[in-house]
Amino acid sequence: MKTLVWVEHDNVSLKEATLSAVTAAAAMGEVHLLVAGHACRAVADAAAAIPGVGIVHLIDDPACAHPLAETIAPLVVAMMRHHDAFVAPATSTGRDIAPRVAALLDVMQVSDILSVEGPRIFTRPIYAGSAIATVESLDAKLVVTVRTIAFDDAATSGGNAVIAVTPSGMASDLSRFVRADVAASDRPDLAGAQIVVSGGRAMKDAETFARVILPLADRLGAAVGASRAAVDAGFVSNDHQVGQTGKVVAPDVYIAIGISGAIQHLAGMKDSKTIVAINRDEDAPIFQIADIGLVADLFDAVPDLTRKL
Ligand code: FAD
Repeated sequence: MKTLVWVEHDNVSLKEATLSAVTAAAAMGEVHLLVAGHACRAVADAAAAIPGVGIVHLIDDPACAHPLAETIAPLVVAMMRHHDAFVAPATSTGRDIAPRVAALLDVMQVSDILSVEGPRIFTRPIYAGSAIATVESLDAKLVVTVRTIAFDDAATSGGNAVIAVTPSGMASDLSRFVRADVAASDRPDLAGAQIVVSGGRAMKDAETFARVILPLADRLGAAVGASRAAVDAGFVSNDHQVGQTGKVVAPDVYIAIGISGAIQHLAGMKDSKTIVAINRDEDAPIFQIADIGLVADLFDAVPDLTRKL
């Protein structure tokens, strides 16, 4: 089976999520990569250094400077004449592009795979992660997104893949890039952080969230997460949301503060190695999965903990 892996990048460097997608693709068969961007030769060079990669297809075009699904998907579909499977990390970008590719190919997407059991057989979470399904795709072409925390990163050196420059063909005029509003932060990226400190609805407002959660996160060198209730209430921006409709994280330590532990939140953090919960309700569901639980008022416990660290 010949796979085509979407390389996630910012035209300068390759994003880590790509590396776990490569590991998944390698378990399915031969690995080719697609680098579509603008002035992105450095990304193609980095991609070619990943061991086990056969060919890096490079599409360097101003139309691809931003990975708009409407632009990228037709390019992928054209390349799928020579590939059996399209594989993308289940990041915001991968989740945007892959369904469009699947629709254009008229196949079922296999989303968020956790393991590769055979070239066409995968496990994936269902019911917000409460059960794991084993699925086999019988479609002629496969479209697969990969849960990045479920696969090890491929190595980044030692490979020597061929870089094949591919013309982009026609760019789509269905959408255009206007601007990106990216929250700048010195804190670790939520997806790859070793420690995550998350706050929930109990934080009351944005000012309280910042006053209680951020000093603890900074003391621990942690990324900041939040429940959807906290995001919906405007305490923090939605790129902090952990859960079924947010980010899936698996840090060494996840500290859930004033978060009840709804199944949709657990779907995004239950694979964390050590889970710490602080909640004043001893019956809160979060305590069922917590390794360390503190029944306390967070407005006493968290500043106290921060001071003592
Ligand atoms: P609550 O459930 O209100 O819990 C607040 C907790 O704070 C309570 O346990 C309370 O005891 C505790 N508390 C209050 N005051 C204090 C105090 N002073 N000290 C200590 N503890 C205190 N949710 C997500 O998080 N992520 C998702 O991705 C997500 N996706 C969803 C998708 C769908 C389709 C649906 C239907 C829901 C989704 N949700 C998601 C929402 C989810 O169901 C819950 O509503 C949400 O997670 C609740 O957030 P919370 O725990 O912050 O709030």
